[in-house]
Amino acid sequence: MINKISLSTILFLLSCKYGNNDYFLLKKNMLEDQIIARGIKSQAIIDAMLEVDRHMFVPDHQKKNAYSDRPLPIGYNQTISQPYIVAYMTEKLKVERNHKVLEIGTGSGYQAAILSKLCKYVYTIEIIPELAQIASKALTDQGFNNISFKTGDGYNGWVEEAPFDRIIVTAAPDKIPEKLIDQLKPDGRMIIPVGDPLSMQYLWVVTKQEGARYKKQKILPVRFVPMVKE
Ligand code: SAH
Repeated sequence: MINKISLSTILFLLSCKYGNNDYFLLKKNMLEDQIIARGIKSQAIIDAMLEVDRHMFVPDHQKKNAYSDRPLPIGYNQTISQPYIVAYMTEKLKVERNHKVLEIGTGSGYQAAILSKLCKYVYTIEIIPELAQIASKALTDQGFNNISFKTGDGYNGWVEEAPFDRIIVTAAPDKIPEKLIDQLKPDGRMIIPVGDPLSMQYLWVVTKQEGARYKKQKILPVRFVPMVKE
């Protein structure tokens, strides 16, 4: 009897902490099979992905797929990125605790949630007002309180809040927007997919140097939704 009570208490406490045990197992498998097995080493990123409930960032009918190894539709012809791509881009971004990070393409809000666990403050811009509203509500309801939201075209960045330590772009323009490079601090880093969605896109890492100089490096072929212009 005592055993039964304590077991159910433990399960109850776990489900309070992680929302739902089924999701917790799916999340644990996602981390082992998709994230750690493929070489993500940062313990901080692994912990953040363990803490953030990905199923809270997808529409109800997609919740059962929230931890699967692919992007998922979130409505308005947009997608939440595949978990591995979120982990990979976040690792390449080299986010630190004291950083101010700009994200272009809030989408579901999941990437912003992961960043919010790793840095000081996240600024995120989304061009589709309905998605911006859904994501900001999901993040605010879950208690993420170091994120500012803006609805509009992220191509020109967020001048009022610049400069940023890091910029992450999750929709692909056809070339690297100069204004985003301008809004990086010296030694700042940006990770951005670039290219035509119908042919070939690559992820680039841009490192800002003294003055307006910067270096860029192509790191991975990818497939992102196109960055649209207002
Ligand atoms: N980071 C997101 C991925 C979203 S997909 C996540 O974690 O779910 C890319 C998003 O970029 C889409 O929501 C799309 O509407 C948005 N987007 C496209 N062009 C944009 C632009 N010019 N400015 C801001 N957001 C843009």
